Amino acid sequence: MAEQAELTRPGTGRTIHTINPVTGESGKSYDETSLEEALAAAAAARGAFLDWRRTGFGERSAIIHRAAEILRARKDEFARLMTEETGKTVTDGRAEIAKCAVHCDWFADQAAHYLADEPVDIGGGEAFVTFNPLGVVLAVMPWNFPFWQVFRFAAPALMAGNGALLKHASNVPGCALAIADVLHEAGVPNELFRTLLLPSSEVAALIKDDNVAAVTLTGSVAAGRSVATAAGSVLKKCVLELGGSDAYLVLEDVEVAAAAKVAATARMVNGGQSCIAGKRFIVVRSILERFEKALVEAMNGYAIGDPTREETKLGPMVSVEARDHIHEQVAQSIDKGARLLLGGKVPDRPGAWYPATVLSDVRPGQPAHDEEVFGPVAAIIAADDEGDAIRIANASEYGLGSGVLTADLDRGRRIAAEDLEAGLSFVNENVRSDPRAPFGGVKHSGYGRECSSYGIREFVNIKTVHVKPLGRGGSNAVE
Ligand code: NAP
Repeated sequence: MAEQAELTRPGTGRTIHTINPVTGESGKSYDETSLEEALAAAAAARGAFLDWRRTGFGERSAIIHRAAEILRARKDEFARLMTEETGKTVTDGRAEIAKCAVHCDWFADQAAHYLADEPVDIGGGEAFVTFNPLGVVLAVMPWNFPFWQVFRFAAPALMAGNGALLKHASNVPGCALAIADVLHEAGVPNELFRTLLLPSSEVAALIKDDNVAAVTLTGSVAAGRSVATAAGSVLKKCVLELGGSDAYLVLEDVEVAAAAKVAATARMVNGGQSCIAGKRFIVVRSILERFEKALVEAMNGYAIGDPTREETKLGPMVSVEARDHIHEQVAQSIDKGARLLLGGKVPDRPGAWYPATVLSDVRPGQPAHDEEVFGPVAAIIAADDEGDAIRIANASEYGLGSGVLTADLDRGRRIAAEDLEAGLSFVNENVRSDPRAPFGGVKHSGYGRECSSYGIREFVNIKTVHVKPLGRGGSNAVE
């Protein structure tokens, strides 16, 4: 932590203040990092990368396993920090840290296998595919899973031999510094992984720096567009994990109460502030009324409460601004014909609170239909039949997660595998990420993948090597 503090000390002269979403009161202050310091950190990271890439998988694996141990040992402390900075319930925070540890262990164990040389037969001599690290990867990350989003990227990237710079969301500076602390304590060289408390206005300049090889962003479509533009201008690799408006098809053959339970669980992940939270529930008309009642009942189980208490299932939103935006989306949807079945009222108390809310009669032209609602608001959309439900699900600019709720598993499998335009499609359960399975989206939900062999191969040079004795004359080459 000492060196990290030194890097940020002179800063820009500006200070970042955190705000506790529970009370609306100011928390801690941190010095912002200047672009000049960020560029110096990029140069140092590049230097450290040149050594790190020569270490073996065994050495890296021991370090990343140690990071997992540290995460487990400091789980309660980090959960509290997330609650202070984002309002996340302490129960969700602990689960998030546990997941980061599992993810570190997985990539510590699997990286050598995922990145083992692959022989190919291209006729004559020896040919194989090998995976070289790309260099220093800039990670621009969001606040909603402040530890998970970073470790999801960092564990495979470091195991592949890369260095990394973290530009985290500006409302989670404590988490951002704590993550660097974990990795450094585990043995990741200080200069190889750096947290920069850099304003987003400086990200494009850092992407363009020669010491930065690639960039990954998890966040909104607007931020993704801006980062992709900067990366494109210098032809650098870019992975984008953006927003989602996940649709769940609720088909007429389903057991309604069980389907509503899955729907509510999907909707209420992290207080509804998740890219893969279920946001649109597209219900075949013949069961619409029964599903409305069942979903209201299931969503009613998420009472708002103190996020530091174990039993709380819904804490505050991340900020009063974010809460006001959600409420505006709900109010506008109602103005345009949506029917309010539950919630929808801002509680009269300080802090960023918003209740579990259910809207029905949601149609095109309403924000609850057309936009990502990043909070505890379930939108019910009626469909005539299966085909209509698929059409509505796909009529979205997003394509991250999706679900099918049905009693017929063959039908569910077919729709999930063939029909839904999304990076993930789950039948009869809520979508989630897992280190073993690829994670990412299509359309405006981004491109590239995280997790699994697909994720670790995003930030490597997939290199073909062909070795043969020197003969007379070369081969006839066609590009
Ligand atoms: P955000 O405002 O886009 O911020 C995400 C990160 O991008 C932050 O570090 C932010 O920094 C930075 N940023 C914002 N504008 C930028 C710009 N023009 N250039 C460079 N960097 C920029 O998103 P958020 O509000 O934190 O997170 C919510 C969004 O993320 C939702 O849309 C959600 O669906 C999406 N998300 C997607 C995934 C996924 O895996 N697909 C996962 C989680 C969240 P500052 O904070 O300093 O502005």
